[in-house]
Amino acid sequence: MKHFILCTFLITVSLCESQNNNPIENIIIVTTDGFRWQEVFNGMDSAIAETPKFNENKKDQLYKKYGALTTIERRKKLLPFIWNTIGTNGQIYGNRTYGNKVDNSNPYWFSYPGYSEIFCGYVDTAVNSNKYKANPNTNVLEYINKQPGFNKKVAAFGAWDAFDRILNEQRSGFPVTCGGEVFNNNDATQKLIGEMKRDSYTPFDTAEYLDVFTNYQAMDYLKKQQPRVLYIAYGETDEWAHEGNYSDYLDAAHRVDKWLNDLWNYIQSSPNYKNKTALLITVDHGRGDKNKSEWTSHNAKIADSNEIWFAIIGPTIEAKGEIKTKMQIYQKQYAQTIAKLLGLNFTCEHPVAPELNTFFVR
Ligand SMILES: [Zn+2]
Repeated sequence: MKHFILCTFLITVSLCESQNNNPIENIIIVTTDGFRWQEVFNGMDSAIAETPKFNENKKDQLYKKYGALTTIERRKKLLPFIWNTIGTNGQIYGNRTYGNKVDNSNPYWFSYPGYSEIFCGYVDTAVNSNKYKANPNTNVLEYINKQPGFNKKVAAFGAWDAFDRILNEQRSGFPVTCGGEVFNNNDATQKLIGEMKRDSYTPFDTAEYLDVFTNYQAMDYLKKQQPRVLYIAYGETDEWAHEGNYSDYLDAAHRVDKWLNDLWNYIQSSPNYKNKTALLITVDHGRGDKNKSEWTSHNAKIADSNEIWFAIIGPTIEAKGEIKTKMQIYQKQYAQTIAKLLGLNFTCEHPVAPELNTFFVR
């Protein structure tokens, strides 16, 4: 019995030590609002590209930029970083052609409930509107911000001004810079980006600014502040889709892919991040596909808009590329997964769905 107790003690100590020396010290989460798995895995959808109502009179340019004979070539043209880098060295989930399914658990299939599900790891059916008040549910980012070694090392940047409420900035204790906000007016770069936002073309009114500003604000913060957890939320993929502009939608996704490449190059060339940082990319909801003209939209009445995807790369995550095995994953599993990747266990006042264990080496 004494031996048993001693062994248990030693095992516990070694587990604790391995948590302190967790191979993943930092995580960056990126979302691009409502970008469909159909384009992630199949590239440009010719049925939409050929519809005059959606192609903005740019059919030839679309085929030149994103057209190719095979699915593999098409998706690489649209998302070269995701397919050449994560598709080789990371893992990509959600190709329903192989029965690999990732879904919303929430019954609404639009943004606020989707982001709340991602970060709370929990579906609160009361969160049923994009105008919902400040989120009463604790999110994993605020949990992480309170853990030793992570305080003041968590930040979020979003194109859409709802993230202050979704992540409950007032309560959560980490900075959420979104909509027209500026992180720090005393910093020349942040100030300039804020002025550029204010004076820019605002096709989505002032609730949401073009992704380029969010991207450069977040990258500037990353380089100067060296956070351990960073969330970047892009929005144009959703906005252009609602407009029915397929060319703008694909271009927005292609830009996000380019920025992911910039981000990963920075991570892998900087001593604080190199080989100790995970990158998780996903979406808040899918969009219609069954009725092709409904690709522009998403909600509980639009078939298929609960279908999502994610990609991940980082230390200890095996290089499996596109996952072709049958499985069912839910969006609410991301929150605990984010915590576990950092060697933490997310607990709070509401239940938290279990982590995805498919890519943890046990
Ligand atoms: Zn939308």
